[in-house]
Amino acid sequence: MVESSVLGFPRIGAFRELKKNTEAYWAGKIGADQLLAVGKEIREKNWKLQKEAGVDIIPSNDFSYYDQVLDLSLLFNVIPDRYTKFDLPQLDVLFAMGRGLQRKATESTKAVDVTALEMVKWFDSNYHYVRPTFSHSTEFKLNGQKPVDEYLEAKALGIETRPVLVGPVSYLYLGKPDKDSLDLKPISLLEKILPVYTEILQKLAAAGAKEVQIDEPTLVLDLPEEVQSAFKTAYDILAKAEGLPKLVLTTYFGDVTPNLAAIKNLPVSGFHFDFVRAPQQFDEVVSILSGEQTLSVGIVDGRNIWKNDFSKSIAFVKKAIEKVGAEKVVVATSSSLLHTPVDLENEKKLDAEIKNWFSFATQKLSEVVTIAKAVSGADVSSALEANAAAVKSRKESDLTNDAAVEARLSKIDKSLSTRKSPFPERLTVQKAKYNLPLFPTTTIGSFPQTKDIRINRNKFAKGEITAEQYEEFINSEIEKVVRFQEEVGLDVLVHGEPERNDMVQYFGEQLKGYAFTTNGWVQSYGSRYVRPPIIVGDVSRPKAMSVKESVYAQSLTKKPLKGMLTGPVTCLRWSFPRDDVSQKVQSLQLSLALRDEVNDLEAAGVTVIQVDEPAIREGLPLRAGQERSDYLEWAAESFRVATSGVRDDTQIHSHFCYSDLDPNHIKALDADVVSIEFSKKDDPKYIQEFSNYPNHIGLGLFDIHSPRIPSKEEFVARIGEILKVYPADKFWVNPDCGLKTRGWEETKASLTNMVDAAKFYREKY
Ligand code: GLN
Ligand code: ZN
Repeated sequence: MVESSVLGFPRIGAFRELKKNTEAYWAGKIGADQLLAVGKEIREKNWKLQKEAGVDIIPSNDFSYYDQVLDLSLLFNVIPDRYTKFDLPQLDVLFAMGRGLQRKATESTKAVDVTALEMVKWFDSNYHYVRPTFSHSTEFKLNGQKPVDEYLEAKALGIETRPVLVGPVSYLYLGKPDKDSLDLKPISLLEKILPVYTEILQKLAAAGAKEVQIDEPTLVLDLPEEVQSAFKTAYDILAKAEGLPKLVLTTYFGDVTPNLAAIKNLPVSGFHFDFVRAPQQFDEVVSILSGEQTLSVGIVDGRNIWKNDFSKSIAFVKKAIEKVGAEKVVVATSSSLLHTPVDLENEKKLDAEIKNWFSFATQKLSEVVTIAKAVSGADVSSALEANAAAVKSRKESDLTNDAAVEARLSKIDKSLSTRKSPFPERLTVQKAKYNLPLFPTTTIGSFPQTKDIRINRNKFAKGEITAEQYEEFINSEIEKVVRFQEEVGLDVLVHGEPERNDMVQYFGEQLKGYAFTTNGWVQSYGSRYVRPPIIVGDVSRPKAMSVKESVYAQSLTKKPLKGMLTGPVTCLRWSFPRDDVSQKVQSLQLSLALRDEVNDLEAAGVTVIQVDEPAIREGLPLRAGQERSDYLEWAAESFRVATSGVRDDTQIHSHFCYSDLDPNHIKALDADVVSIEFSKKDDPKYIQEFSNYPNHIGLGLFDIHSPRIPSKEEFVARIGEILKVYPADKFWVNPDCGLKTRGWEETKASLTNMVDAAKFYREKY
């Protein structure tokens, strides 16, 4: 029998149990015991679900209370000193590193004030990991044994699992030096970190684990020479250690072939490749297998929700069997299923036809099992027939194709994607029109999404309050936000986005061509989950989506009010996209819909308009080459199609976050003002890179993922640092990102200090 395997399962619980309890713990409403018990329950459910589905190789240590990379940092003692000096329990150290911690002293505990570590996108996904941060003083040693504990926990339930660890090369390469050690190259720590890998692997073997899944996803990136050669060094050393389990080296999200030399001849028991994303690598990667090495065929998509096409997958796996023999082939998910919602069965409102096209994590379990059975000669004919019917129904559905959208798309040309005048001319008219002070202050759009907002949104969704009552409520929230911004003295105001459940979902719900889930949550970071809408067909905008709220907000104030939209690339990236047309086509369809919205805002008198593109960097193909340059072109074109229909005196803003952004990539968008997340960038070189950015720019001054309040002096110091290299007349003052996850108290305090710091510099300049 060919075996089936799952690389990781969502850990949030079918009904977001982990989020609810984690946040209750942070709020002091439940104790650590209760949170830990919830984690245990989720793990147990997940293992049993996989066992019952018939999955042969079930993962453990894929669970985390915050992030699996952060778990490893804690396990290996990669904990900057600033987190250890408060005598916090381990769990709190974990959360402090993930989200920062600011706590007044009590009789029994010290005051705590520490910022979070940097959080960045996990490859090209919308998951974020906490970046390991190394110092010269980092001393690797084992702190506990989470992977062993979880392995034993499953074993006690009678379930044999394969523990998962991020491998040493990827772990180091995904990290960065801490501010006190900027000259340190993390990969140079390889030989120092291997003993702790050896130790944890030995413990796993001693506990009974026969095989461990070692994730080395960096193999799909362009790697510098010293990182490529690190694989051989690392795995040769591990192979020499005594008492280790077998290691299966796992790669995903792309093509490994450019780094094939780095993993050829590695002493591991097998390899996993992602053939959903990169089927073309098949011949080359298979050719490196030697002797007994197994081939795990990633064929069930861990990143999207479309039902697997069994006939295609079975043919693919059969090809693998022919090459290497059935006893060495494993049928697997392409990556961890972390990136997909938990269970389609919990969707009660989806149209039955559309629902039949989807497969969530739970359904994907049976997919790997069915494919494995099919290639082993078992009779699964009824499953195959049902699958073929679903695939056909989707292909032929009217919901998929819209001739009018396709016609409009074919007419996109240069005139549609170019502003009327170049930036310097626009700047002149905008200066005259808005008359903003030096160091203009603004925010990124959202204000705290309070419990009250969520309650009212739910009531409206359930029909417990009328549309008029809901609108009245939203208007009162908008008014509160506008009044606060006037009070604190911000210059360009926002309406606060209280009507939006999520920046993509909100627009998706109003666009034709989209489907939605009611419970399709996916972890984005920590306790923040998103419910990506699903692009099922050609996209268009039946009517205005955001004009009413922005116009109302503008009516309340004489200051410029910034209309707020989500850009085409972000709408695409944060949705589950179609897999039957290109991303470019989907993005341009979205850009036409947004263009109409931008033009409607302008016509209604909202003439500062921000089109957010936080996902633009994450969409960048992982490797340099044609695909990447094409992407940069169509991503920028999409933004410009959306924003170029306006007058010169309409000021277009954009916003980016979560990534190491290349200023050259955003130039092509030609936005008048951009704001970027910046508060955790310590490397002065990075500031330097942005000083050549031609248009105006706000470098984010505080971390909005953390409740911590920076003082005015901190803002003054930070701005001072930046102004050493950055031209004052281009400089906007703003936070890193929107404030929706924050509370009002810290929002008020932080923004007050930020505005005070801007005023301080206005007097100096
Ligand atoms: N305008 C959005 C907000 O303020 C932007 C969010 C984001 O960039 N992720 O919430
Ligand atoms: Zn942002």
